[in-house]
Amino acid sequence: MEYYAEVAAGLPRHLRHFIDGEFVASPGSFAKLSPIDGRELSRVAEADAEAVDAAVQAARRAQRGPWREFTTAQRAAALHRIADGIQQRFDEFVAAEVADTGRPIAQARELDIARGIANFRTFADLVSTAHSECFESVGADGTQLLNYVTRKPLGVVGVISPWNLPLLLLTWKVAPALAMGNSVVAKPSEEAPTSATLLAEVMRDSGLPNGVFNLVHGHGPGAAGEWLTRHPDIDAITFTGESRTGSTIMKAVADGVKNISFELGGKNAAIVFADADFDAAVEGVLRSSFTNAGQVCMCTERVYVERPIFERFVAALKARTEALRIGSPYVPGVTTGPMISAAHRDKVLGYLRLAVEEGATVVTGGDVPRFGDACDNGAFVQPTIWTGLPDSARCVNEEVFGPVCHIAPFDAEDEVVARVNHSNYGLAASVWTTHLARGHRVAQRIETGIVWVNAWYARDLRTPFGGTKLSGFGREGGRHSMDFYSELTNICVRVA
Ligand code: NAD
Repeated sequence: MEYYAEVAAGLPRHLRHFIDGEFVASPGSFAKLSPIDGRELSRVAEADAEAVDAAVQAARRAQRGPWREFTTAQRAAALHRIADGIQQRFDEFVAAEVADTGRPIAQARELDIARGIANFRTFADLVSTAHSECFESVGADGTQLLNYVTRKPLGVVGVISPWNLPLLLLTWKVAPALAMGNSVVAKPSEEAPTSATLLAEVMRDSGLPNGVFNLVHGHGPGAAGEWLTRHPDIDAITFTGESRTGSTIMKAVADGVKNISFELGGKNAAIVFADADFDAAVEGVLRSSFTNAGQVCMCTERVYVERPIFERFVAALKARTEALRIGSPYVPGVTTGPMISAAHRDKVLGYLRLAVEEGATVVTGGDVPRFGDACDNGAFVQPTIWTGLPDSARCVNEEVFGPVCHIAPFDAEDEVVARVNHSNYGLAASVWTTHLARGHRVAQRIETGIVWVNAWYARDLRTPFGGTKLSGFGREGGRHSMDFYSELTNICVRVA
C-alpha cells in the first residue's frame, strides 16, 4: 500500500468534538465519504445545540482562568509548541488532508501542512515583536497628555472554516485568535473534519489550558455552524466560505452586533499581455486555474489574453492542461485530484453543461474522466478550458469552484481593466507582463484585495488578505489579524 494510504488507514475512524479539554461524542453522527472512491472514511459526531453551548461556555470559562494570565511571551511559546506538535505528526496531517479531500500528496506536504505550521509560528513571532501606538499631545489648557494603546482579547471567537484548504484556513484564524489571548470554538467543514480533529489532539498535548481551544463538528444551516453564529455568548465570528453563507451569517450576528471577518468567494481573473514572458504566463495560468482541481478561493476562472497571442496561448494552455494527470493521489505522478464530494462534482458538471448551452467552445475537458477502477465512484471532473463566451454569460460571472477557466481575447489596457472589474466579486487577480510600469499601473486599477504581477498565490503572511464586494469583509494577515482579534483601548494620561 502507498505510504500515505497506510498512514491514513491508522487515522481515527470516529471523530469527536473537543470541548473543555476532552474528546466527547454526540448522539448523532454523519458519514465522511472519500472523494477518491466514495467509501466511508469515518463517522463524525454531529453537534447538537447542547454541544455547541457546552463548547462556548468552556471557552467563556477559559477567559476567566489561567489563560487570562498568560503573558504575550507565554502565548507565543504556546503557539510554537502547537507548531512543533503538528510538525511531529506531519505525516498524519498530510494523510488526513489527502484522504479527506483527494488532493495531491505533494500539495498537502508543501502547501497545506507546511502553511498550517507557519501560521502558528508567524503569529507567535508577530505577537512577540508587536509594538503599540503612542501619541504625545498638549491639551487646550496647556496640560501634557500621553496617549497609548493597549490590546485586549475579544473574548470567545467562533471560527467557521471551509473544506478546500482545511488545516491551512482553520489555523489561519485560530493562530492569531489565540495569539491575541482569545479562546476559540472552531467548526471545521463537515467535508474535511479529520485534520481539525488531529489539531485538537495537538492542542491537548501542547498543554493549552482547558477550554482555550474547542472543536465542534457538524453541518452549517440548522446545525452546529448556525448555532455557533446565533449563540449569544460569542464575541466574534471569523468565517471563510461561500459568499451566500457569509450573507446568512451576517444576518445571524446582526442582532448581537458581533465582530465579523469574512473571506468569501471569488471569480478571479488573469490578464496576459502580449509582452508577457509567454512560457511563464502559460505555467502561471495553468497553476492558477487547476491547483487543487480549481478548488482554491484564489484560482483563476477568467483569463483575458491580448489578441496577438490569443490563439497561441489557448493552444499552449490546452497542451499543458492535457498533460495533467487526474486520479487517485496514491498513484505516482498524479497532479490533479477530485472535487470534494459527489454533490460538488454535480454542481461543477451543471456549469459544464451550462457553458455549452451558453455557446462555449470546449477547448479541452468538459466531462467526467473514466478510470475503470474504484475511482469511478469518486468525484472527478476533467480540467476544462472554454472560449467563445460573452462577458454576460453566467459561466463567466458565477464562481464554479472547479477545474475550469474561460479564455477571452482583449485589445486594450483600459478595456481589459473594465472587463476584469465588471464582477460582483473582488478577491484576487494576476497580471502577466514584462512592462514594469504597466504591471504596477494595471495592478493598482484592479478592484480586488490582492493582485499578483507575474506570480500567483505567493503569500507573505504579514500582508493583508481579504476581498472586496461579494468576496469579503475586513482584512486578515499580519497586524490586520491582530487588529481584528483584539479590542483596542486608548489610555490617555495627563502627565504634566
Ligand atoms: P460553505 O460556505 O458552504 O461552508 C463553509 C463553512 O460554513 C462550513 O464549515 C459550513 O458547515 C459552514 N456553514 C454553511 N452554512 C452555514 C450557516 N448558515 N451558518 C453557519 N455556518 C455555515 O463554503 P465551502 O463550500 O466549504 O467552501 C467553498 C467556498 O469558500 C468557495 O466559495 C470559496 O471561494 C470560498 N473560500 C474563500 C476563501 C477566501 O479566503 N476568500 C478561502 C477558501 C474558500
